[in-house]
Amino acid sequence: MRIDADTGLYAVFGNPVRHSKSPLIHNACFEHYGRNAVYLAFEIDDICEGIKSMRELPIKGASITIPFKSDVRAYLDEIDTDAQTIGAVNTIVNRAGKLVGYNTDSMAAISPLKPLGIKDKNVCILGAGGAARAVAHGIQKENGRVIIANRNPARGEHLAEDVNGIFVQLTDETVFRQLDIDILINTTPVGMVPETDSLPVPVARLNPRMIVMDIIYTPLQTRLLKEARKIGCRTINGLMMFIYQAAAQFELWTGIQPDLNIMNAALQDGDR
Ligand code: NAP
Repeated sequence: MRIDADTGLYAVFGNPVRHSKSPLIHNACFEHYGRNAVYLAFEIDDICEGIKSMRELPIKGASITIPFKSDVRAYLDEIDTDAQTIGAVNTIVNRAGKLVGYNTDSMAAISPLKPLGIKDKNVCILGAGGAARAVAHGIQKENGRVIIANRNPARGEHLAEDVNGIFVQLTDETVFRQLDIDILINTTPVGMVPETDSLPVPVARLNPRMIVMDIIYTPLQTRLLKEARKIGCRTINGLMMFIYQAAAQFELWTGIQPDLNIMNAALQDGDR
């Protein structure tokens, strides 16, 4: 790859972000499509400062990850309608100095579930952060029934209200036993590296009838998915969502619809 004074700079802002595979797949695509560009990861404490740097350097496009997807909205010049409805931004495009926010997580999250049917299913989402917002809006759009289970009740209730869903306290075993959950989706970081032994909910809450999805992709097989498989649940890991959301970002930045096989191959190479 050539790096010179014309190299375009792209970034991911998050904390933690060292686990992120986004640099691998975006740099592979820039190279494959002959773009003079580089994508770097920045672990930052303050998203306001991150966005200031984006304007000053300037950075042409950015991914936004945990925990900034909601807060970043306050520092942008424009937010696309879907991202406004969802209340979270995971992609920024720098259009000649104007920073525009988008959300590519929502359609990406539901794409592996759509073929299995979402309409009229009871879908329990663990977490109420930026990714949960995207997932919940996607499920609502497909006429699934949304149940938000979160640690912080105010945050959980707020999201449940936004998607006409119901809120349950994450730790409330009694209420959980009464729910007839068809699809359980973990959107919390519980189980992500380095805490790969952690579970977002006790195994006793799973039953073989459930589809269990974890949007974490480091590791690909989280403890939640391993336990779910052991008892016979159908499971979905975070890889497909990750690739779809990244492909949509790349298209927003470059106008190119990337070949998903290139992204997948870059991930496999990175794991070697
Ligand atoms: P976020 O905005 O910070 O939200 C995190 C949510 O998880 C919050 O609701 C938080 O609860 C809950 N949470 C955090 N630690 C917890 C704990 N120890 N116990 C119980 N709940 C806990 O983060 P995000 O941007 O939504 O990202 C969440 C995860 O999704 C990350 O692991 C990220 O890598 C993954 N992700 C994957 C993809 C993909 O493409 N596969 C895309 C996006 C995100 P409170 O409200 O109580 O604080």
